[in-house]
Amino acid sequence: MLDFGRLKSGFSGEIVSREDSDYEVARSVYNANIDKKPQGILYCKNEADVISAVNFARDAGVAIAVRCQGHNGSGFSTCDDGVIIDLSGIKYTRVDNEANTVRVGAGCKWADVDDATACFGKAVSSGVVSSTGVSGLTLGGGHGYIARGYGLAIDNLLEVDIVLSNGSYITASEEKNTDIFWGIRGGGGNFGIVTSFLFEMAPVQDVFCGLMAWDLADMENTFTWYDQLMKTARNDLYGFYAVQTIPPGPPFPEDLYLQKFCGIMWCYYGPKEEFDEAWAPIKAFCEENPPVMDGTHWGTLRELNAAFNELYPAGEQWYWKGDYFDSITDDVIAAHSKNIQDVPTWKCAMHLYPVNGACHNVSADSTAWNDRSSNYSMVIVGVSPDAADFENIKSWAKRYWKDLNPHSSQTGSYVNWMMPDEDHSRVKTAYGSNYDRLVRLKRKYDPDNVFHMNHNIVP
Ligand SMILES: Cc1cc2nc3c(=O)[nH]c(=O)nc-3n(C[C@H](O)[C@H](O)[C@H](O)COP(=O)(O)OP(=O)(O)OC[C@H]3O[C@@H](n4cnc5c(N)ncnc54)[C@H](O)[C@@H]3O)c2cc1C
Repeated sequence: MLDFGRLKSGFSGEIVSREDSDYEVARSVYNANIDKKPQGILYCKNEADVISAVNFARDAGVAIAVRCQGHNGSGFSTCDDGVIIDLSGIKYTRVDNEANTVRVGAGCKWADVDDATACFGKAVSSGVVSSTGVSGLTLGGGHGYIARGYGLAIDNLLEVDIVLSNGSYITASEEKNTDIFWGIRGGGGNFGIVTSFLFEMAPVQDVFCGLMAWDLADMENTFTWYDQLMKTARNDLYGFYAVQTIPPGPPFPEDLYLQKFCGIMWCYYGPKEEFDEAWAPIKAFCEENPPVMDGTHWGTLRELNAAFNELYPAGEQWYWKGDYFDSITDDVIAAHSKNIQDVPTWKCAMHLYPVNGACHNVSADSTAWNDRSSNYSMVIVGVSPDAADFENIKSWAKRYWKDLNPHSSQTGSYVNWMMPDEDHSRVKTAYGSNYDRLVRLKRKYDPDNVFHMNHNIVP
């Protein structure tokens, strides 16, 4: 049993242990299928708390899980018998509009960043759901609506503050501690606990966005056209392809509730005066191939980033699998058409996110994220509010993935789309030619693997 009394003198945050009445809430993470029982949850308020917590848990020899928003399906932000170092109290943002940067505390959600930057007409390249945590998404790499124009989240990261496994505290950037700065850009939480991020902002505010849905019978046509478009389109035009079910509620048309569809979630974020030209190929395609639903409209990136937050609340069952793809071939389309037929719940989905454009301007060895040539990062998500569905959603996601994997780029998956039951060879594949350098870095900064609750780089 851990003696939290020994921690208390150097720790200003709250400690929740198994005896406390709020323990059940405090130990929960986003994916309700993860049911781990740490000895305590250490709610940090600042860097000093993180240092004290790391020293305490390391000296006690217990597992350390680090939690920002606990949003990762893998459940690596909790553990059995060890401690959760919770960062949600390190929540601040500070925009420097002249320098075009925003400093972000490691406990923020992306919605906090959107709230801080939107009034300046700016944004940071993040994901497509703003309830996700800044930390986990960024340290894994981070791709979303403006990735084709501005790159991955890590491509916009300028500096981090980080607590190392020996309790020391350093700043890393392209100028200082450059080796660890390379490693944390895609290497997850393997090297330490980041307490703050400094991002470059991008000039984005009004976007033309929304879902266009077609009948599944149109998948071959739409998917083939989409693939050609995303390989040639200007970088400020983005669309992710979706194969899923229309949710049974507003804002979707009632006559389409629970209908399976294929579709594209669009986001044009270029100059308004160039919209007609940018949109012309989509307009022309839709005239020939009218969608069953067209929800596109002018809005803001901040609103778009929040569009899925309610659809996917915390506390549901999740299982996901990913892969990178170069092209959408007939075999790929056949696998999607087949597997959407027996989808176990309406919340299950396949999303194909473009990671080309500006993401390809960075070389494979410039950051730990290794695949800078595939065009798409795919995820298949099995989701249900009902625990009884878990085995079904898991086996569906695995079956679906198995049919697709032979047609993938064979470069593994975005690490944030991997579950803990993936074979470790998948982690190695994902880091590819960067893996050996990551191992050397791990030996230097965390030789005893204090930070192992992640897709682990084994020292
Ligand atoms: C609905 C949904 C939509 C998503 N959409 C996208 C998307 O569009 N694009 C995308 O790129 N990803 C997306 N993701 C995946 C997302 O990137 C991961 O789930 C991410 O890990 C969430 O971040 P978090 O901080 O909440 O994670 P947590 O679960 O808190 O942590 C995840 C991992 O990071 C480690 N970690 C957390 N904070 C730190 C820190 N400060 N220092 C060191 N290690 C840390 C944890 O120990 C754990 O291993 C989505 C996930 C969901 C559930």
